[in-house]
Amino acid sequence: MSTFKSINPYTQETIAEYAAHTNAEIEQRLAWGDRAYRHLWQTTLEERCEWMQNLINLLKTHTEEHAAIITGEMGKTLKEAKTEVLKCAASATHFIQHIEEMLRPKPVKSDAQQSYISYEPKGIILAIMPWNFPYWQVFRFAIPNILAGNTGILKHASNVSGCALAIEQLFLEAGFPEGTFQSVLVNSKNIEPVIADPRIQGVTLTGSTAAGISVAQLSGKYIKKSVLELGGSDPFIVLKDANLDLAAQTAVKARMQNAGQSCIAAKRWIVEKPVLEQFTDKVSQLLSSMKQGDPMQAETDMGPMARPDLAAELAQQLQQTVAQGAKLALGGQYKDANFAPTLLTGVRNGMTAFEEETFGPLAVIIEAANEQQAVELANQTPYGLGASLWTTDLEKAQRLARQIESGNVFVNAMVRSDARLPFGGIKQSGYGRELSLEGTHEFLNVKTVYIA
Ligand code: NDP
Repeated sequence: MSTFKSINPYTQETIAEYAAHTNAEIEQRLAWGDRAYRHLWQTTLEERCEWMQNLINLLKTHTEEHAAIITGEMGKTLKEAKTEVLKCAASATHFIQHIEEMLRPKPVKSDAQQSYISYEPKGIILAIMPWNFPYWQVFRFAIPNILAGNTGILKHASNVSGCALAIEQLFLEAGFPEGTFQSVLVNSKNIEPVIADPRIQGVTLTGSTAAGISVAQLSGKYIKKSVLELGGSDPFIVLKDANLDLAAQTAVKARMQNAGQSCIAAKRWIVEKPVLEQFTDKVSQLLSSMKQGDPMQAETDMGPMARPDLAAELAQQLQQTVAQGAKLALGGQYKDANFAPTLLTGVRNGMTAFEEETFGPLAVIIEAANEQQAVELANQTPYGLGASLWTTDLEKAQRLARQIESGNVFVNAMVRSDARLPFGGIKQSGYGRELSLEGTHEFLNVKTVYIA
C-alpha cells in the first residue's frame, strides 16, 4: 500500500506517515460528499455563514497550532504561516459579508414576463492543491464554493497530508454537515477515476504547468469544468522615476517570502538602465542582511525550501544561468532544502533563469534600455500570471499596464491575492479566476430561468 510521508524540510526528520486511501475509502468519501451537497443545498445561506463564522473563530483561536503544522511540513517561517492562517480567516469574513449579493438572482429583460439568472451549486468540486500555501490555496477555493452550496474534496500535495487532514477537521468542528469538505490521500497518478466520477462537477488545480496539462486533459476527457492556476515568471519592472527605496524593499519581499516559492513571486527584476546600479546596491544590502535558519524562530527571515529536490532543481537553473554568462553577485550555496538568498546580475533573455520559472530564493536583475524594452522583456515569457510596475508617473503606469500580458498588474505594490479581486492568469499560467465575484461563479450553475 502506498504511503505519504511528511518530512520536516529544516531538520529532514519524518513527522508522520499516512496510508493512502483505498478505492473503497475514496468511494465512501465521494458518497459522503454527494450526500452533503444534497443536504447543503437545502440549508439556508445564513446557516452556512454561521458555520463559516465558527470556522473563522477556530482559525483565530488556534492560529499558532495551525501555523506550526504548516511550518513543520513545508518550512515557511512560523511568522509567515500565522499570516497565512489569518488571511484565510479574513477572507472568509469578507465572503460572509458579500456572498448574499454575489448569489442574488440577477433579473434580465427579455421577451419573457420574467427572466433572471440564478446562481446555483452543482455538486462536489475536486481541488488539487500544492504545498506552498497549504492552507490559503485550499481556503480560497473552499470558502466561496461551500458558502454557495458546493462541497469540496481535496487532493493535497503529498508532502502536506497533515495540513489536509487538519483542514478537514476544521470544517467538521465548525459544524458543517459531514462530507462538506474532505481530504483524499491519493497519489496523483491515481486521480483519473476521481475526476471521471459523475459526482465530481468541477476540478480546480494550483500547481505546475505539467500538472495543469495532465489535469486539463482529464477534465476535457470527462467534460468537467476546470480552473487552472499554474506557474508564473512574474516581471517586477523598475522604471527610472520609481521610488527606489520602496521598490527595492518590495522586490526583496516579493521574491524571498515563502523562500521564493510562490506562483506570483517577483521572478524577474527588470530595471531601467539609469537606475540599475543604485537598485542593485540597495537590493544587495537588503539580501545580505536576511537571516536564514530555523523557521520556528521569531528572528528568522527565511526558512528552508519545501523539499531537497526542489533546491537541487533551483541549483541547476542557477548553474546553467551562470554558465550562460550571468554573474553570481550573492549567495548560491545550498544544503539539503536550505538555499541561501541568491542574486544574479546581467541576466538576459535566452538564459535559463529568464526563460523558466524559478521556484526558490533566486533573484535576477535584467537590464532594460528604456520603458518600452522593459515591457517587451516582461512579455517575453510563456507565462502571464502577475506583474509589478514601479513608476511615480501614474498615467504612464496605466498606459504600460495595458501592454503587459498578465492576469494581474500591480502598480507600486507587490502582486498578491486579495479576496475582493479576481486572481488568475493567462497564457501558460492557466485559465479561470479565483476569489471575488468572478471566482465565486466559476463552479456554479449559471441558470437561466424564463417565465413566459
Ligand atoms: P506539482 O504541480 O507537481 O504539484 C501540485 C499539486 O498537483 C500536488 O497536489 C500534486 O500532487 C498534484 N499533481 C502533480 N501532478 C499531477 C497530475 N499529473 N495529475 C493530478 N495532480 C497532479 O508541483 P511540485 O511540488 O512537483 O513542484 C514542481 C514545480 O511546480 C515547482 O518548482 C513550481 O515551479 C511549480 N509549482 C507551482 C505552484 C503554484 O503556486 N502555481 C505551486 C507548487 C508548485 P502530488 O504532490 O501528489 O504529486
